[in-house]
Amino acid sequence: MENCIFCSIINGDIPAEKLYEDDQVLAFKDVNAQAPEHFLVIPKIHISTVNDATDEALLGRMNITASNIAKEHGFAEKGYRLVMNCNSDGGQTVSHIHLHCLGGRQMTWPPG
Ligand code: AMP
Repeated sequence: MENCIFCSIINGDIPAEKLYEDDQVLAFKDVNAQAPEHFLVIPKIHISTVNDATDEALLGRMNITASNIAKEHGFAEKGYRLVMNCNSDGGQTVSHIHLHCLGGRQMTWPPG
């Protein structure tokens, strides 16, 4: 989709520090990391919010991709947090769904 920063990353128009890619999903480091480990997993098709998502397998793939990367990077056993923000109250700033994976430190609850 035009004017979507994450579609531009998928297309290669904007650089990103990629961690994993297949035909359906892309994972890359968050530019504004909120934890020692912070990456995003996005679908390669444009879906604006999780309210618009209908493909259960794709959402499952995003989660499994995140856990696989956490395992590969050695912080899965200690733990991590997976978050998908939705719309303004959820704090979503990029309108292309993305799963945050945060780790490498103790998470607090509730989040701000
Ligand atoms: P959210 O607030 O849930 O929509 O999260 C959007 C996330 O995308 C933020 O954590 C940003 O730091 C991150 N972000 C925005 N632009 C980029 C980019 N070009 N490369 C990597 N991460 C980005």
